[in-house]
Amino acid sequence: MPGGVKTDVRTYQLYIKGEWVDSKSNKTFPVYDPASEEVIAQAPDANADDVNRAVAAAKAAFEDGPWATTTAQERGRVLFRLADKIRQNTAMLAELESRNTGKPIVEAEYDITDVATCFEYYGGLATKILGYVNPVPDNAMSLTLKEPIGVAGQIIPWNYPLLMAAWKLAPALAAGCTCVLKPAEQTPITALEMANWLSDVGLPPGVVNIITGFGETCGAPLVQHPDVNKIAFTGSAAVGKIIVKQAADTVKRVTLELGGKSPNIFFADADFEAAIDGALFGVFINQGEVCSAGSRILVQKPIYKKFVDAMAAKAKTIKLGAPLDRDTKMGPLVSKEQYDRVRSYQEVGKKEGKLAAGGGRAEKFAKGYYIEPTIFYDLDNSARIAREEIFGPVAAVIPFEDEKDAVKIANDSPYGLAAAVWTRDIFKAFRTVKSLRAGIVWVNHMQPTYVEAPWGGYKQSGFGRELGPWGIEEYLETKQVHINLNEAPIGWY
Ligand code: NAP
Ligand code: MG
Repeated sequence: MPGGVKTDVRTYQLYIKGEWVDSKSNKTFPVYDPASEEVIAQAPDANADDVNRAVAAAKAAFEDGPWATTTAQERGRVLFRLADKIRQNTAMLAELESRNTGKPIVEAEYDITDVATCFEYYGGLATKILGYVNPVPDNAMSLTLKEPIGVAGQIIPWNYPLLMAAWKLAPALAAGCTCVLKPAEQTPITALEMANWLSDVGLPPGVVNIITGFGETCGAPLVQHPDVNKIAFTGSAAVGKIIVKQAADTVKRVTLELGGKSPNIFFADADFEAAIDGALFGVFINQGEVCSAGSRILVQKPIYKKFVDAMAAKAKTIKLGAPLDRDTKMGPLVSKEQYDRVRSYQEVGKKEGKLAAGGGRAEKFAKGYYIEPTIFYDLDNSARIAREEIFGPVAAVIPFEDEKDAVKIANDSPYGLAAAVWTRDIFKAFRTVKSLRAGIVWVNHMQPTYVEAPWGGYKQSGFGRELGPWGIEEYLETKQVHINLNEAPIGWY
């Protein structure tokens, strides 16, 4: 039996200072399978006492522990070894992820592969953190050094549990930081399973600590802790705003990856079949529980009605099913809470627009938080379902006249995470790309995401960038060093 699992009812423990420990309160909370609605594990309910223990371990590991003197080469090798462990255990991790989130197993396997790739990428980048020699106008050597920021508190959501953990841990470790990670309450399992290997791959105790619990009682004390130097947060805009306020008293660095209401724009000259495919993939992948979901589908008027009909016809063929069935294209939503939220937006949509497909629960399942892929049309960009993030399989299809109109509607949102544009006209494509206020813009595709390229939003979708060299920069401090080369006194007095 792996460490951290106490009995066959799968009660997990916290991972602090390289050891499995109970929460100070000894309380646990249930973790569910959203397809069967059954409890599949118990996770420790960490509170401020546990946060204090984890932060103390991370601080000691940063300041006194061997991590402080580890070379970049060694940090890189640790990450490569962790990536190997992930690859060797892809089947196990993907199954757990699929059971716990409800996402189709095939998608979960892609996620776990991406987790390994993320650790490999940052393993390589660890040795490429470069400083500068600054050309100052004096007889001196001026240097810029890049140094780890210290203890990083990392708070993540439930839609891509282990992948979000990797996006946080990999750059932090490559930079030389130590970490306290809080997974989402709904999906704490895979991060804890991964902790089983952290010591084996060579991470000293306290470098990575994983504490499971709730936002207010575990996340908030982590954000407020004076010994935490940086908070990396991925989650909703509502909680992101709270995080910024909580972090203010200790003036810590904050990066926020928040939600979106991303436009997927289809000009009349786009390849029609590819466009229908791209519209559905953009909004229904991972049950629509995607921060960059193309949930506002903007379609040029000449093809609008045909587009809605084709989308609706194809949406009705999407195979909903058990998450572990390899043919399943859409599983249940992650939780009862999320199910209720999305169901309520389906009712809002029925008042704001016309229904082309879906609109309710997928009734063929006796149990589970299954929602029909739902498409509304003939609505305005001012509708609530066009402005508010739903985070489920609900699309709003909005017509537009021309390029100018499309850009105006696309940018008329408090969010600015992602956008996509479909056309065969390269001039129109590039003009639109330049006009869109979003951190990620796809042309003739939507959703591909690579660890090599930056990820993050404009406007209320957050600030800071993850992935690529941009991701590691967020975990680095910049130190200026001045070395005087004159041996004589400066002679001022
Ligand atoms: P959420 O409710 O905002 O929660 C995110 C995390 O914050 C959870 O771990 C949560 O704990 C914690 N939290 C809640 N309140 C807190 C507080 N007062 N102080 C500190 N931490 C607190 O988001 P979610 O429902 O898990 O995830 C969905 C959201 O994430 C969507 O808005 C989506 O767009 C966004 N997202 C963004 C990206 C991106 O890259 N931009 C990627 C994925 C998801 P609990 O476990 O108790 O809830
Ligand atoms: Mg939550």
